[in-house]
Amino acid sequence: MAEYLQHEHDVLVIGAGGAGLRAAVEASAAGSRVALISKSLLGKAHTVMAEGGIAAALADVDDRDNWRVHFSDTMRGGQYLNSWRMAELHAREAPARVRELEAWGALFDRTADGRILQRNFGGHRYPRLAHVGARTGLEMIRTLQDHGIHLGLDVFMEHTIVVLLKEGERVIGAFGYDRERGRFHVFRAGAVVLATGGIGRAFKITSNSWEYTGDGHSLAYHAGASLMDMEFVQFHPTGMIWPPSVRGILVTEGVRGEGGVLRNKDGRRFMFDDIPPLYVNQTANSEEEGWRYTQGDKNARRPPELLTRDHVARCIRREVREGRGSPHGGVFLDIAWIKERIPNSAEYIKKKLPSMYHQFKQLADIDITQVPMEVGPTTHYMMGGVRVDPDSQMSDVPGLFAAGECGAGLHGANRLGGNSLSDLLVFGQRAGEYAAKFAKQNPAGQVNPEALASAERRALKPFDHENSEGPYAIQHALQDLMQDLVGIVRVEAEMLQALERIRELKARAERAGVQGNREYNTGWHTALDLTSLLTVSEIITRAALDRKESRGAHFRDDFPDKDAAYGKFNIVVRKGPDGEVQLIHEPLPPMPPEFQQIIEEMK
Ligand SMILES: Cc1cc2nc3c(=O)[nH]c(=O)nc-3n(C[C@H](O)[C@H](O)[C@H](O)COP(=O)(O)OP(=O)(O)OC[C@H]3O[C@@H](n4cnc5c(N)ncnc54)[C@H](O)[C@@H]3O)c2cc1C
Repeated sequence: MAEYLQHEHDVLVIGAGGAGLRAAVEASAAGSRVALISKSLLGKAHTVMAEGGIAAALADVDDRDNWRVHFSDTMRGGQYLNSWRMAELHAREAPARVRELEAWGALFDRTADGRILQRNFGGHRYPRLAHVGARTGLEMIRTLQDHGIHLGLDVFMEHTIVVLLKEGERVIGAFGYDRERGRFHVFRAGAVVLATGGIGRAFKITSNSWEYTGDGHSLAYHAGASLMDMEFVQFHPTGMIWPPSVRGILVTEGVRGEGGVLRNKDGRRFMFDDIPPLYVNQTANSEEEGWRYTQGDKNARRPPELLTRDHVARCIRREVREGRGSPHGGVFLDIAWIKERIPNSAEYIKKKLPSMYHQFKQLADIDITQVPMEVGPTTHYMMGGVRVDPDSQMSDVPGLFAAGECGAGLHGANRLGGNSLSDLLVFGQRAGEYAAKFAKQNPAGQVNPEALASAERRALKPFDHENSEGPYAIQHALQDLMQDLVGIVRVEAEMLQALERIRELKARAERAGVQGNREYNTGWHTALDLTSLLTVSEIITRAALDRKESRGAHFRDDFPDKDAAYGKFNIVVRKGPDGEVQLIHEPLPPMPPEFQQIIEEMK
């Protein structure tokens, strides 16, 4: 093992976004020696892009809010496939995690009397998102970093993990490389926390950053852990669509929360046309009522633009397909119209949505205070991930924990906006706490040298094929096919075609070649990312084929209705003995009567 750089810690956290940082802070505070690894520079993890806010029933703006309402909103949003226990823990603990962040220095926007300001967001009954303008993720990362650095974390920036190391059944570390020099590193640890984020880069149009290649999902799967809910990929309804260079960049739901409305090319506000039965009682029945809701009228119900993301995305798609779309294949999102209601609307919009104002001005030369934006769906969030114990966040592989977007359970079939940042805090904290406990009882294990040699051989293979096809063409072909065949609307024939093409791409990826040396070789990095991208793409497709109904973010044109039988289980995926993808229908854990009662009461 002499040729590898070696590191030993109690807890190894892979990923330095909100979940990873929160886990690292907790483990470190519990006395563990913690290593924090990030594919990008510290401070650049995807969480930094989060805009709208953190959902927590603080009841600072509307005193009717409490954890029960948040629990029930989250379950309804997830179409009741969520882990009820995770939804409970999340709703109960999110307020404490937000206040703790404030105590560590996060400066949230305030109400006139000095409490944390909370905004409206899709699927949340009351204004619930604590925010910092449209830069909430930046404030969260900055605060957690400041706090964590003082606890003495060992940070490994621009290091990428390519395989988890095991001793028997237990995970005891990880093997990876540093991007700068291309040197290999062995990290030994008593416990490993995966906090690697999502999978958006498997699709062509996405709001996700380059890091979102599904590494954590793939690392866990190949290490023998189960993944769950992998068919549920969230397509956010509002991404930029023009000019082409910015296609997919997110337009925050906060725009609709502040009164923005969706219109088709005829200027018609089409979201009133189709309100799902689960939401009829909570949705405004006139434009007037919807506007009053956005302005804080407690007697008004929310406008249909704030229905769940899956539904809004499909309504947009319907308008486009039926010929009522905008010039570049989307619809119009209009916040400028509020000048009819507010005298100083331009100032109001710039104050409430500063990032959106600058984003459109700088990237598309559009002044959103004066004219509507053109928007369309973009791949945004992965509900599926590593299956974990709700309380401890440990996967079914001992010593391997997961939190944040690469974990599963809280969101079920669809995530509500704002529930990710709170997920990172609540379950990042829990993962850190339980990983530290596990590491205390299970010190670092013995690494098998043959496992390292095999990981190294595999990682260096692209250099043996210097003159063959490069990795980018394969990556782009995969993104195109996932977008076209396993995207927002799915049918069996297309998904079977997708599986066939993924099989071909896997063969091409095995032969993919790169040139040059190992120092900052982005071609090499992309070649290594292909393993994760292809693994998660196949799993998403197989799970989507298996769910023969439409629910939440998963819409089947050949099975357009919800089927009660499919509401009784999660689809769990494991790697079979011959490397094949095994699917299991795992019954939902029974929900205690008191939680069923909460859901009934909040209907
Ligand atoms: C534009 C945008 C706006 C959003 N706004 C909101 C919002 O307002 N509210 C909300 O709740 N949610 C929002 N979301 C979703 C939310 O931001 C993400 O779900 C969340 O930040 C994910 O955090 P994470 O800690 O799980 O992962 P990340 O923050 O993505 O961190 C992942 C980390 O893992 C590292 N990593 C990945 N693979 C490897 C590897 N192989 N080796 C080593 N390191 C690795 C990365 O470098 C990174 O450090 C938004 C998402 C987007 C795209």
